[in-house]
Amino acid sequence: MKKLMAANWKMYKTAGEARTTAASLAALAAEALPDDREVLVFPPFTALSSVGDALRHAPGFSVGGQDVYPAAEGAFTGEISPAMLLDCGCGWVLTGHSERRHVIGETDELVGRKTAFSLTAGLKVVLCIGETIEEREAGRLAEVLERQMATGLAGVKADAVPDAIAVAYEPVWAIGTGKVAGPPEIIDAHAKVRQLLVSRFGEAGRAVRILYGGSVKPENAREIIALDNVDGVLVGGASLQADSFSRIILA
Ligand code: PEP
Repeated sequence: MKKLMAANWKMYKTAGEARTTAASLAALAAEALPDDREVLVFPPFTALSSVGDALRHAPGFSVGGQDVYPAAEGAFTGEISPAMLLDCGCGWVLTGHSERRHVIGETDELVGRKTAFSLTAGLKVVLCIGETIEEREAGRLAEVLERQMATGLAGVKADAVPDAIAVAYEPVWAIGTGKVAGPPEIIDAHAKVRQLLVSRFGEAGRAVRILYGGSVKPENAREIIALDNVDGVLVGGASLQADSFSRIILA
């Protein structure tokens, strides 16, 4: 199973800036990319085409949208459809990122509809899940993961598994805060996610990639990706500079 090394550029970079970063990334990492690594970049919508151009000839690299609306087309001002993402060269989309759940107010149910609709439309999906600090301290980790997995994967058909879906475990308290979950916390949460995948999809659930996200940096990436059931990482802040993200990719 290839490790999936994903970059979330959030609401950073103009199209030109994103092209420059993507081109440097390709120059730094593409030649040296080991066979067991795959790279995925989620730029803002306005930079999808320029990043796609910059990465077109970089084997092992792909591009995805940070969000999507679960309809083919229609009166949904400000939204973007799976077909539009595919048209910009995207192979992937992110659903349920914690900033969309907690800043924009997306519900579990909407995340589930986005996930299922995107898969049917031909995109691969990274479904993000994770607990807040209050939920963790109240001993509700298992319950939150179970609920987010059940609703997030509600409409997912067995033929999407394992290749078209990955799950990113991102504890909300570790995103953009500099606080990394420790190895015991990551191992425990990823084991829970694996068990939920297997109970939902049977043996195929063992081959679904589970990514860790939350303050991953060049200094901690190697230790994190070596942990049980960690099949890649989703990186925000430390992916914005080509040099830093390429050190993570090659960690
Ligand atoms: C993210 O945006 O998914 C993320 C994990 O951010 P950071 O790496 O900055 O914590």
